[in-house]
Amino acid sequence: MEAAVQRAYREIGGLTPLLADCGALCEAACCLPDADGQGGVYLFPGEERLLPGTDDGFAPLHICEGACDRVSRPLGCRIFPLSPVKKGAGWTIRIDRRARAMCPLCKSGLKGLDPAFVRAVSRAIRIIAEEPEGEAFLEKWQALEDGFRSARL
Ligand code: SF4
Ligand code: SF4
Repeated sequence: MEAAVQRAYREIGGLTPLLADCGALCEAACCLPDADGQGGVYLFPGEERLLPGTDDGFAPLHICEGACDRVSRPLGCRIFPLSPVKKGAGWTIRIDRRARAMCPLCKSGLKGLDPAFVRAVSRAIRIIAEEPEGEAFLEKWQALEDGFRSARL
C-alpha cells in the first residue's frame, strides 16, 4: 500500500482546496487541536511506514501539533475537506461532514473548490481503491463518516 499512497500524494501534488491559501480564511482551523487539546489525522494503509501513528482502534492516528512540513503531511490532510464515497462500483468524493464545524469552504460545496483539486483528489482515492486493503479502508472511512451524517452533525 505504501506505493499506492505515494502515487496518491503525487496525484494531488501541490493542489489545495483553493488557488489561494485558504488557511488565511480561518487561521488554518483544520490544523488546530480541539478544545481538549486533541488533534490527529487517521493514516491510510501504508502511511504508517511513512509517518508516526498511534493505534486508536480505527486506524493509526497521526498526532500533530498544528504545524508540519507540508510535503510530508498525511493523505487525510491532503484531501480535506473531501471524503471518499462509493457510487456504484466506483469511488468518488464528497464534502466531509466532519469538516463542516471548522471549514468555511464547506458552505459552498464542491462547486466552491478548485476543480483541479477536486479531480485530483478523486483520482487519488481511486488509486487507493485499486488495492483490496485500500478499498477496505475506504469502506471503513465512509462508514465512519456516514455515522456523522446520520447524526446530522
Ligand atoms: S479549515 Fe478549510 S478553509 Fe481552513 S485551512 Fe482547512 S481546508 Fe482551508
Ligand atoms: S499534519 Fe499538518 S496539515 Fe495535517 S493537521 Fe497537522 S499540521 Fe495540519
